[in-house]
Amino acid sequence: MAKVLSPMPVGIRAQIEAMALEVAELVPDAAYANYMILDPTRSDPTGILPGTPIYVGQSGCVARRIKSHMRQALMQSVRRGSLYERIVAIVRAGAMPIFRVLQLHSTRLESVRGETIWAQRLLRDGACLYNRWPEQSRVMADKELARRQRRRLFDLSLAEASEAGAALQARCCRDGWHVAIGAEHLLPRFGKLVTFHAVRRTLRECPQCGGRLRHAIVIEGAISPVSTGAPDRNAGP
Ligand SMILES: [Zn+2]
Repeated sequence: MAKVLSPMPVGIRAQIEAMALEVAELVPDAAYANYMILDPTRSDPTGILPGTPIYVGQSGCVARRIKSHMRQALMQSVRRGSLYERIVAIVRAGAMPIFRVLQLHSTRLESVRGETIWAQRLLRDGACLYNRWPEQSRVMADKELARRQRRRLFDLSLAEASEAGAALQARCCRDGWHVAIGAEHLLPRFGKLVTFHAVRRTLRECPQCGGRLRHAIVIEGAISPVSTGAPDRNAGP
């Protein structure tokens, strides 16, 4: 699909800038925010909001994220059925999407979890979200949701995980050998931007029996830098 507005008209650019600043004023420095995007051209199913929710996101820099959403929608080709196609339609109708901060968090980890909780809340209220992860685009049972939330933690970078006090736990399927390594101790070896997914790939086999290791992300609790030892009967998450 062709670019819709190229170059972006000065008026729209100024509106986006103003909108991003206004929202960012609500977010203290160093905080993460869950936000939603509303379409003011369609009414909210609950009748409370000034438009229907179309997307839930999270960011450590909400002003930059808003500008990036708008730039991607208006300056690049947009995929059919995507959030950005919807944003283009809103702008073409002479309106602007509305960005609303939902909740503030002190770590990326809380923010990532919060994003899905908010998405589920809005979905249950009848919203249709353009989010791409299943847990953010369809109503899901608690059990499946919890499983997906756990899996999502592997997407955290070591810097984010370290800030949240998260650790990678590996456990042998055969003999119960296990280890839990705090993200801060993985940082020097793997670097800040590497995710737990990547680290997990380097830790596949049990050093005792060669059995397959299962992984989990554990948060808080008494996690020593490197703990190994006897089978732990209080199995992790
Ligand atoms: Zn083993």
